[in-house]
Amino acid sequence: MSKFPLWLSILILLSCQQNLKETFDIIIANVNLIDGNGGAIQTGRNIYIYEGRIIKIDSIDLSEDPSVIDGTGKYLIPGLFDCHVHTSDYEYDLPRLMHYGVTSIFVPGGSTCSNQYFKQIRELGAQDSLPAPRVFHTSQHFTMEGRHPVRTYKSSNWVEGETVFYLRDTLQIESLVQQVVQFPIQGIKLTIEEGPMPPPVPRMPQTFVDKVVAEARKNKTRVFVHVSDNTELRMAIKAGINNIIHYTGVDLDFEVDRTLIDSIYQLNVSWVTTLMIDKSFIYPLHPEWIEQSDIRTIYSASKIGDYKNPYDIVRAKAYLNFFKTEESSTPPTLKDIVTFQVEDIKTLYDNGVNMVLGTDTGNKYIFHGHSLHEEMQLLELGGMPPADIIKMGTHNAAKMLNILDDLGTIESGKMADMILLDRNPLDAIENTMSIHLIIKNGVIQQRMSLN
Ligand SMILES: [Zn+2]
Repeated sequence: MSKFPLWLSILILLSCQQNLKETFDIIIANVNLIDGNGGAIQTGRNIYIYEGRIIKIDSIDLSEDPSVIDGTGKYLIPGLFDCHVHTSDYEYDLPRLMHYGVTSIFVPGGSTCSNQYFKQIRELGAQDSLPAPRVFHTSQHFTMEGRHPVRTYKSSNWVEGETVFYLRDTLQIESLVQQVVQFPIQGIKLTIEEGPMPPPVPRMPQTFVDKVVAEARKNKTRVFVHVSDNTELRMAIKAGINNIIHYTGVDLDFEVDRTLIDSIYQLNVSWVTTLMIDKSFIYPLHPEWIEQSDIRTIYSASKIGDYKNPYDIVRAKAYLNFFKTEESSTPPTLKDIVTFQVEDIKTLYDNGVNMVLGTDTGNKYIFHGHSLHEEMQLLELGGMPPADIIKMGTHNAAKMLNILDDLGTIESGKMADMILLDRNPLDAIENTMSIHLIIKNGVIQQRMSLN
């Protein structure tokens, strides 16, 4: 409440007798509000926006006022977050993220992430002329020479000291951490993992992981860890890291791994789901996913990629076979490969773990913007209720990024990032794609042309 200057409160009080349009930039009237807190729909709400903020929410009758946006029969949700985004072509990708209502992104490093790159992408996220989400990010990758992701994702953009830091001994970690905290980072990006597919590269030793965590604490920053299996997860949790940016690859056993599970609960973990990684691997087996969606209209052929190429099809079949059980005679389906993961995600969520939406877009067949909706649909396919999924992509994301005072829900005093939908997303999560209007920072955003 104390966020508003006194003059603004007086202005609002005086405004009762004035034309609402003169006092507020945007009013959405009589809308069904899904505020991001996970509760029931609030019907008949009016949302008043001024200078980028939500000034108040009430439910008086504004049906005679021509200056309002009529929200009758529509649904309002907070702007969505994708908390695992990579982009090397951000002027192309950012407007597409915004087209799909992704008003904030979290970039956990990548091969192009120099300090200059981070500055440019942050500045794009802070303006309203080119549609672009707000940008939050980590430091550059902390990894070791000859390991993941530099060896596994070869690119000439990896430059030591600019886009990646190689840890050579634990003594050097102190100065590296001091160096990166000079920049507006959410925390340090630490890669423990042994690589996405065989042959594996060695993992980072536990002593290095522990030292990064200790130095991060000293410098009042956090660690966002890249893990892809249970061993790496255990290493991260043992070191006290409570921000995990992938789910794929982990397979929890809530009975057998009781110590690990209890540690996760005690650490107040935030955990990004990235189920799209699984779906992306089998995209080549499902050309209809591209042909029957708006992907073709929004993304160029070169960005979509040659999904009919034989190598990708063979790789997709091999990936599916990995999930084949001895009893089944038919190949596993998408539902088969996500359901067991979503069941665990749901158990973690129900036990208070801060589960967060993210896609790992920037990888093949994970489309900036569109795939966040696919991520939500995968969670629903596996049994997650839509209200919880929306909370994961709004409230929980803002909580992980420590920005819940300003973003993540539609409440009085918060920044005005929201999506007006034609259909109810609590009936079916695919209704998050029935976008009528997107507002970021109190400004109605331009969407891509659908010609
Ligand atoms: Zn990633």
